[in-house]
Amino acid sequence: MQQEIALKACPHCGGEATLASPAQWPYLTHIVFCPSCLAKGPQGPDFADAIAQWTLRFGAEHPAEEDAAAKACPYCAWEEVVEGNNGLGNEPGHEGTLYFTACPNCLARGPHVRDKDGTLEAWNRRVGDV
Ligand SMILES: [Zn+2]
Ligand SMILES: [Zn+2]
Repeated sequence: MQQEIALKACPHCGGEATLASPAQWPYLTHIVFCPSCLAKGPQGPDFADAIAQWTLRFGAEHPAEEDAAAKACPYCAWEEVVEGNNGLGNEPGHEGTLYFTACPNCLARGPHVRDKDGTLEAWNRRVGDV
């Protein structure tokens, strides 16, 4: 059941965010995600936790080093990232494998892209009041 709640916009593309439950995303817990770029917020045990983590934007307060390849996680300011993919493709409405850069600390995932080499650029894209 989705709540009527104003969610902060996606830090990567400014898109309108929405909620997803484990029923929709079998491999995830509760998350806030962006249907435009398919970025996923930190995973939480319930929607309240997922929303609270999505709303925190420490990336702006604790930016990574100037010369760091990857910008800090927008939600938890973690400075290491990992590369990932969604396997054979289990994004509703999106066929095939998509790639992303993710945060190993809060498990947030950046925008999902077709080009394996394009994930970091997508992760580093930040718009608005990240
Ligand atoms: Zn987005
Ligand atoms: Zn994080």
